[in-house]
Amino acid sequence: MPNAALPLDPAILPHSAGAAILRGASGKCPRCGGTHLFAGGLKPVERCRMCGQNWTLHAADDFPPYIAILLTGHLMAPVIIGLGKMETLPAWAMMLIALTMAAALIATILRPAKGGVIALQWWLGMQGFAGHSGKAEAGVA
Ligand SMILES: [Zn+2]
Repeated sequence: MPNAALPLDPAILPHSAGAAILRGASGKCPRCGGTHLFAGGLKPVERCRMCGQNWTLHAADDFPPYIAILLTGHLMAPVIIGLGKMETLPAWAMMLIALTMAAALIATILRPAKGGVIALQWWLGMQGFAGHSGKAEAGVA
């Protein structure tokens, strides 16, 4: 019984991939939006307490870190350029500021990225969600 989610009122289901991704990125269950997607850290709950969706079926793998690194790199580029233009700032201070900001950004972006990837996989019926896509359940073509 890998995916024995409870039937839901269609009004509760997300109506687009974007809506599902927003729910996942905000740490809510992409299917019902009602409770937490993560048990703690980056580990998703086994089953949603409200709708029963099994979230262990995802295979987000390395995609969330790729997203976090891509966004962090683009956000940090102007900061590093700005720090590099400061002639009075020692190199060690620039490295300390840049590395601290990059680590904080990655830590901040990683969980929403994972939630969004899990939601997208569910919506599209990918990996363990095969045959049970959110898209089909919501009746979206
Ligand atoms: Zn749910």
